[in-house]
Amino acid sequence: MYRRDFIKVSAAAAAAAALSPALASCGGFAGGKKRVGKGGPLKMSYYPYVVELQHTFTISGFSRDTTTVLLVEIEYDGVTGYGEAALPPYMVGQTLETASAFLDKVDLSQFSDPFEMDEILGYVDSLAEGMSCPKCGIDIALHDLVGKLLGKPLYKIWGFNAAKTPDTSFTIGMDTKEVIIQKTKEAEPYNILKVKLGSTEADDKMIVETIREVTDKPIVVDANQGWKDKRYALDMICWLAERGIRFVEQPMPKTVYDEMAWVTENSPLPTIADESCQRLVDIRKLYGVFTGINIKLLKCTGLREAHRMVEAARALGMMLMIGCTTETSCAISAMAQLAPVVDFADLDGNLLITNDCFSGMKIVNGKITLNDLPGIGVTKL
Ligand code: MG
Repeated sequence: MYRRDFIKVSAAAAAAAALSPALASCGGFAGGKKRVGKGGPLKMSYYPYVVELQHTFTISGFSRDTTTVLLVEIEYDGVTGYGEAALPPYMVGQTLETASAFLDKVDLSQFSDPFEMDEILGYVDSLAEGMSCPKCGIDIALHDLVGKLLGKPLYKIWGFNAAKTPDTSFTIGMDTKEVIIQKTKEAEPYNILKVKLGSTEADDKMIVETIREVTDKPIVVDANQGWKDKRYALDMICWLAERGIRFVEQPMPKTVYDEMAWVTENSPLPTIADESCQRLVDIRKLYGVFTGINIKLLKCTGLREAHRMVEAARALGMMLMIGCTTETSCAISAMAQLAPVVDFADLDGNLLITNDCFSGMKIVNGKITLNDLPGIGVTKL
């Protein structure tokens, strides 16, 4: 057997253990011993990239025209995995400088088996509190690498059915009436609209009524913590329920639990935790407070933890949503690998930018459409 083929075979056996404990326990590999490839140490590199937005993007509290991302690459035996760490301004404390300083501390050369993902990502997570964005960049690149070494897309390795992906929503930020009309028309190819609310009552109602003048498509609302009073939040949700809105994301500030539980209990619409739900550990305290959670790779440090959050939320009977920020098709395609097992997806971040440097998951007739490329399913442009 050629060395390269040996590595592929041993990689497949090791990956069964790394990616699916269930598979490994089903009597996976001969002799019960994991064989390790000889591809040498992992090599990581990264560089910044400025993503340009089509429109100035305004949500409750922030406005921006660009997002800086760090593109991460992990190389092993001549194969390169791609990852992305977007740095949107609301990820407090995670700037180009602090994220780069974190990545400079990471020494992956101590690892010579990319399939020891628990060990590698556990080490990365232990290097500093927070820093979820650069951790996510490493996690995505490692998953892409492992999928490429196996020659399979992650969703297939995880056993998901690509036909079960949902439609994605297309986001319309806060804006003037004229721009909202224009953006709603531009959203013609998409079947669901996501609307950013959370400013004044007059502006919030103007935005929804303006969109309703143009289309009767389903709308979901993201208030981005904008409604501070529980009775006001519930009144807004009741008003929205009469206008064909499907659910409301993060109506109230992220640490308001008792009031939020009261809103959810009385709400005619499902409520989804976004800013309140960062990592796996948060889910326990959100049960009974929100109907569901919005998982984002940037918040939870990447695909490994996102996959665990899917399982935890499912076990609790909570609704599952996946989201993104404005980023390239690298991070979007990574998140899309989990799309077959979620209730709702908001994966339009790459559609809102003008200089995507990856090609990956496509939206076809409004639906998330996964390809057969290995790993996260991207090609660098
Ligand atoms: Mg949100």
